[in-house]
Amino acid sequence: GFDVLILGAGSAGSVLAARLSENPALRVGLVEAGAMPDDPDIAVPQKWPALQGRAFDWAYATLPQPGTAGRIHPWPRGRVVGGSSCLHAMAHVRGHPDDFEAWAAATGTRRWSYDGLLPAFRRSESFSSGANAPPGGAGPLHGGEGPLPVYLPDAELSPVVRAYMEAGLALGVPHLGDHNGRSLKGVAANSLTIRDGRRVSAADAWLVPALDRPNLTLITGATVERLELEGSRVTGATLARDGRTEPVFADTVLICAGAVASPLLLMRSGIGAPAVLAKAGVACRLASPDVGENLHDHLLAAGNLYRARRPVPPSRLQHSESLMYLDAADPTRGEGAPDVVLACVAAPAVSECFSAPPPGEAYTVLCGVTHPTSRGRLAITGPDAADPPLIDPAYLTTEHDRRSFVRALQRAREIGHHAALAPWRAEELLPGPAAVTEAELAAFIARAAITHHHPVGTCRMGADPGAVVDADLRLNGLDNAYVVDASVVPAITSGPVHAAVLAIAETFAADFTA
Ligand code: FAD
Repeated sequence: GFDVLILGAGSAGSVLAARLSENPALRVGLVEAGAMPDDPDIAVPQKWPALQGRAFDWAYATLPQPGTAGRIHPWPRGRVVGGSSCLHAMAHVRGHPDDFEAWAAATGTRRWSYDGLLPAFRRSESFSSGANAPPGGAGPLHGGEGPLPVYLPDAELSPVVRAYMEAGLALGVPHLGDHNGRSLKGVAANSLTIRDGRRVSAADAWLVPALDRPNLTLITGATVERLELEGSRVTGATLARDGRTEPVFADTVLICAGAVASPLLLMRSGIGAPAVLAKAGVACRLASPDVGENLHDHLLAAGNLYRARRPVPPSRLQHSESLMYLDAADPTRGEGAPDVVLACVAAPAVSECFSAPPPGEAYTVLCGVTHPTSRGRLAITGPDAADPPLIDPAYLTTEHDRRSFVRALQRAREIGHHAALAPWRAEELLPGPAAVTEAELAAFIARAAITHHHPVGTCRMGADPGAVVDADLRLNGLDNAYVVDASVVPAITSGPVHAAVLAIAETFAADFTA
């Protein structure tokens, strides 16, 4: 048996395995359904969209979404050592300090506030030493010695993306510099988890350098079927490997299977809403009605598409090179958390509902809502890991989200039509000049929206008895089981969530070993 058993070697699991095994007295086991990454395309930043659907993608799909014209949304998730950090788009955005106030309020502790997390953010990263880095690279807000390189590009930026950034500045959007300070609204190139032109996954950064420690055991190709419970304790888990099942035992279990798989694993283990479990044929061991609830995600409208008047050079980074966070009502305002986001892609980007010119002949301004209020749920359909889940993010089911999205699209078009982009713009293709009224824009958004790949919230942390985990991330109702991954996020941050997931894991590890 292990002292600590970590289930899932994704972003959070990689951090935890490395940090906890720094203590040689702790025997740490790490279980992963996938294998070590062996596809060379994973490391190539430009290829991230092409990785979806390969053997190391769980390739989930949502239920048809009434809010998005009845469409089914593919949800890629990494099934590989490194998890979704092997598939993701490498943008590193902590979030706005106000985002974490919601976490602090939910849990009643400052540990989950921005300042509470700041040591973990700094510990996780080695901030860029490139031309755009703050003097000395690291500083009070940026780490200089953490495992994860955070690179702020300059010379490699696409000329189209530069023109979009200039359009923002010309409209009075503040100059931001980078996305990982205390302000988030403004114009900045994306900070990227790239070193020497190659993706650095959470496994590359944390786990791989720790794999030769004698007290750390990585078990790959093993799917966790369920947790084994005895009274209020978890004794271990049942793994399925090479067509057989085998038990694994531990004193403490950390569930790190991600925002989709962690609640499913709990439900298969009999932990969840009694009615959901009964429907799936699973005996209830611990009633925890909010397991799988509070599912939410960012959407992006793909997109406000322009035909280019001259060839658009391919991105030398990861296509979407500059997220621009804004106050939709007043884009010149720098204070506070944003409510919408834009992004310029140096390529045609559209949903499956539309066609686009070939690469090199078009570019796109994406847009989205930073703090959606729509909340959905997910559920198991049967007792086995192979039973397909029901995933319902309830996209665009609130008036707030639909209305904010229209504002975001209006801002996207304002930037897209700005004189600073005139050297690149031939004509707007989507939604096209005929789309003018709010109803027309809303109808376009419903068909254009795609996931920004940030599902969170399905094992939310909180001080209330209904929360799935408490402020220490301990599963309510069990003594020695914790959830540590994107599922504990009670309310989504303004931007991509990876940096926050890493900080959750760093914070948990520091507290656990203290
Ligand atoms: P994961 O990293 O998904 O790890 C879960 C692990 O558990 C996986 O390795 C999985 O195989 C394993 N697992 C699951 N079930 C089982 C089981 N039953 N048995 C054994 N193992 C199991 N975020 C950003 O900040 N910036 C971005 O640019 C960005 N772009 C994205 C693009 C894409 C296509 C995707 C998919 C995500 C993107 N994200 C981005 C989101 C970010 O990658 C995730 O939020 C983050 O990686 C989640 O970490 P996690 O530890 O919660 O889960």
